[in-house]
Amino acid sequence: MVEALETSLHDAGEFPACDSCGRHSSKGWSFAFKRPVPDGAKDEGMILKCARCAIRHRPMVRRSLIVALVVGSILTLLNQGDILFSGSWNGALYWKVPLTYCVPLCVATYGALSNARR
Ligand SMILES: [Zn+2]
Repeated sequence: MVEALETSLHDAGEFPACDSCGRHSSKGWSFAFKRPVPDGAKDEGMILKCARCAIRHRPMVRRSLIVALVVGSILTLLNQGDILFSGSWNGALYWKVPLTYCVPLCVATYGALSNARR
């Protein structure tokens, strides 16, 4: 459905509007997500969002945060585990550990957005 809509709008020289804010995106800057459906409903539609709305798409942000929590914890244990468990914390840990969580957050968000890009 989204592809047919995009094709007809591209032929007319116009890109589809964001379903959240109504802004028209340029080529490559609109993102399609599954429409959130209540439990038990069968609607499997898609929604289009502009880049500003896509980066705040709640289901994607939630998934990215879960990935960051799991992968960031594993990476922190692998890279800083010996220092953490020995108790000899140094000042560098206060930027290394948060940065370790930021990397999987950025990777998961980038992956989701590049997969949803239209
Ligand atoms: Zn928007």
